[in-house]
Amino acid sequence: MAKIGINIATGSLQQEEMIVGIDLGTTNSLVAIIHPESKLPTALKEHNTSSLVPSVVHFDAFGNPTVGEEAKNFLITEPQNTIFSAKRLMGKSYNDIKDNADFFTFKVIDDNTESLVKVQVGDKFYSPIDLSSFILKELKQRAEHILKTPVTKAVITVPAYFNDAQRQATRDAGKLAGLDVLRIINEPTAASLAYGLGLRKDEIATIAVYDLGGGTFDISILQITNGIFEVLSTNGDTYLGGDDFDRSIMQYWMQEVGISNEDLKANKELSQTLRLKAEEAKKHLSNNETFETEVNGDKLSITRADFETLIDPLISKTLASCRHAVKDASIHVSDIDTVVMVGGSTRVPAVKKAVSGFFEKPVNDSVNPDEVVALGAAVQADILAGNNKDFLLLDITPLSLGIETMGGLMDVLIPRNSKIPTKVGRQYTTQKDGQGGMRISVYQGERDLVQDNRKLAEFNLTGIPGMPAGLPKIEVTFLINADGILVVKAKELRSGVEQTIEVKPQYGISDKDVELMLLDSITHAKDDIAKRALVEARTEGEQLLATTERFIAKNANLLTQDELVATAEAMQALQLALTMEDKDLIHKKQEELNDISRPYAERVMDMAVSAAMKGRKIEE
Ligand code: ADP
Ligand code: MG
Repeated sequence: MAKIGINIATGSLQQEEMIVGIDLGTTNSLVAIIHPESKLPTALKEHNTSSLVPSVVHFDAFGNPTVGEEAKNFLITEPQNTIFSAKRLMGKSYNDIKDNADFFTFKVIDDNTESLVKVQVGDKFYSPIDLSSFILKELKQRAEHILKTPVTKAVITVPAYFNDAQRQATRDAGKLAGLDVLRIINEPTAASLAYGLGLRKDEIATIAVYDLGGGTFDISILQITNGIFEVLSTNGDTYLGGDDFDRSIMQYWMQEVGISNEDLKANKELSQTLRLKAEEAKKHLSNNETFETEVNGDKLSITRADFETLIDPLISKTLASCRHAVKDASIHVSDIDTVVMVGGSTRVPAVKKAVSGFFEKPVNDSVNPDEVVALGAAVQADILAGNNKDFLLLDITPLSLGIETMGGLMDVLIPRNSKIPTKVGRQYTTQKDGQGGMRISVYQGERDLVQDNRKLAEFNLTGIPGMPAGLPKIEVTFLINADGILVVKAKELRSGVEQTIEVKPQYGISDKDVELMLLDSITHAKDDIAKRALVEARTEGEQLLATTERFIAKNANLLTQDELVATAEAMQALQLALTMEDKDLIHKKQEELNDISRPYAERVMDMAVSAAMKGRKIEE
């Protein structure tokens, strides 16, 4: 294994270069660094202000964005121009969020339910990536202002349950904001790092990270083995957090002084005031027994005991999630070595007490819970910068490692320059109904098509029980141990069938070869992009043909003769386009087929819906 310092494109990073850690939160975001003198993780803030930047973007009449505290002031007065919780929309389609559409007080575009969501403000449209990039840009600017130096490299955290699309979206937002995102790391991993967990080479530990933020709750169970963090399970509630605590106080007061929900709707100012007062009360009660205030001549008060009664059901809900997570991790509460508290809402004493009771041990809460994730990201950033001695010279993978997916594409699981040891898993599924096996071909290299890379190994996962296409969950795991041996495992999660193989990834590759392969990937980059686009278009086209065929087979009796003929023709045209080297033509034919099938697909759907409404059972 080549011993080289972390090397991104041109060679090792300069020592003095500051890589920042960023917690891009649903409610609040912030930046942290390892302080150059104290060497301690430190959250960045201007003198006399908070390190937290509310993750809120307000657009003025000209579409100019403002981010943070200032934007937050518009939440109630200009809800349609003020975007909060953009993180919830990352990598999502309208279909994914429609059940919670009421939550958003701004316009989420709902006309194309399949494609990624956009938000409309005035006559402009913004993707969640755009919105997150505004927040990141603000953070970058603040950091530059405080550090008095350009900030271009960052580690950004995401929830452990974020899928590839959501992680990629976060990366893209960073890029848009002018940041080179060196690594995306899991929030619970970052929180653990901030407590110094996982930094010792021989450490083996099981950690529970309890993260209660403004609007979301996450519990993650992590296993640390020799510096590798593995997520054993995650659970939580994407609509439960400190905001609900505020709301419960608001309701309590409204009942007390006789304000109805209608009154609130009619009086935005009152609503805003009450909400802010409720949050103030909640925070106050974290350190005091009672809170008193006055709103419009009405005396409002609440005791800590009252507050605890109000939120008890909410806390119980989080503990139920914890129970699930422990069960899914196949461990017992007593196996957990350390409990880490994350998120501003864990400042509530009743929360701490309940969590400590559940896990039967004191919790770790010495690090500021709303900064801990960013602080951990800074620790990771420092390791990447090569400033952390123990990690100064890391074994890294010289070339990317991945498997072949549909159409001969290279799907990278471990990108080149990844630290070793490392472990990465990704889920795949079958393409055909009843498919009993799956070939796993392992490749090494930087090119987009596997045929241009080096094949390292191949094996078959067999014995997958018969299921409809798309249902099996095949998890492929790449593990490179400290000796540079790659172990590839494929496991069908529903049935438990699995297969493992060992490969020496660097076998037979000299530094010269590595150099050549890298050069090759650069020379062919443009070419590769075009080829990948074509392969992807073909795969998409084939999938569309297959779904259309299935739909017709099931619903032919509900379509007119004309529709059947038009569909058959469009399918034929698409089939033909698939044999040609022209991705645009494929897209065009795909659209034409879609245009023909959309009206009757909707009609059939409507019929199914109204049949269901009549209480009749219908076959799916
Ligand atoms: P997120 O991870 O969702 O971005 P944070 O971790 O910043 O959110 O948590 C924000 C929540 O923490 C808000 O609901 C805020 O009111 C709450 N919070 C902050 N400080 C306190 C406190 N002292 N007591 C209780 N809740 C607090
Ligand atoms: Mg958070």
